[in-house]
Amino acid sequence: MVDTLLPPQCVSCNEIVEDAGLCPSCWGQMNFISRPYCDVTGIPFETGFEVKAGSSLPLVKEQNLYYDKARAVFVYDDASRKLILAFKHGDQTHYAKTFTHWLCRYERDIIAPADFICPVPLHWTRLVRRKFNQSQLLAENLANKFGMLCIPDLLERTKATKPQGKFKRKQRRQNVKGVFTVPEKYKSGVAGKTILIIDDVLTTGATVNECAKVLKKSGAAQVYILTLARVI
Ligand SMILES: [Zn+2]
Repeated sequence: MVDTLLPPQCVSCNEIVEDAGLCPSCWGQMNFISRPYCDVTGIPFETGFEVKAGSSLPLVKEQNLYYDKARAVFVYDDASRKLILAFKHGDQTHYAKTFTHWLCRYERDIIAPADFICPVPLHWTRLVRRKFNQSQLLAENLANKFGMLCIPDLLERTKATKPQGKFKRKQRRQNVKGVFTVPEKYKSGVAGKTILIIDDVLTTGATVNECAKVLKKSGAAQVYILTLARVI
């Protein structure tokens, strides 16, 4: 009902717009990621030369990655940081609609091939403070849109960790090591399946890699990661 009473506003600057989303000016400031990009990490290649489909960056082999593919809608920069923070710390559940629409650009690549979707979980102590898990909201919206199954507690965060923002790459890996588990009741269901994990921002990828690791150890065949933003 609220939708019909209020004209849609730009999710970044609140300017009145025709359709839900961003106004032309805010849209112009976003760095959306497009092909060609690394088939594993989703990091865009420098354009200006031909890239064979399925190519990946050399760093992929050095990183001990447990996920098979990661994709992000836009680069994490000043423009997108503003959007993500508003989504994360305000009661901005209406952002989820626009964001879910943007995530759909990877439908053929990693959404449709997945058997089910799960979010990166928050520890319950943080969930109490923040009231909702923004990644879960995106995962549920996406699952609804495609008639897929979302399992919010497929991954369980067993320890509260310090915010990753304080740490460098190596410390980030250390900080999240061993903090996720797949509950016993889901283990047999995970075996042989393709699982799509949703998060808001991928920075070094330490958190999602740790999630992918426990899913792979439970027998998952493929693990894909889909985030709104990623640090390039
Ligand atoms: Zn705007």
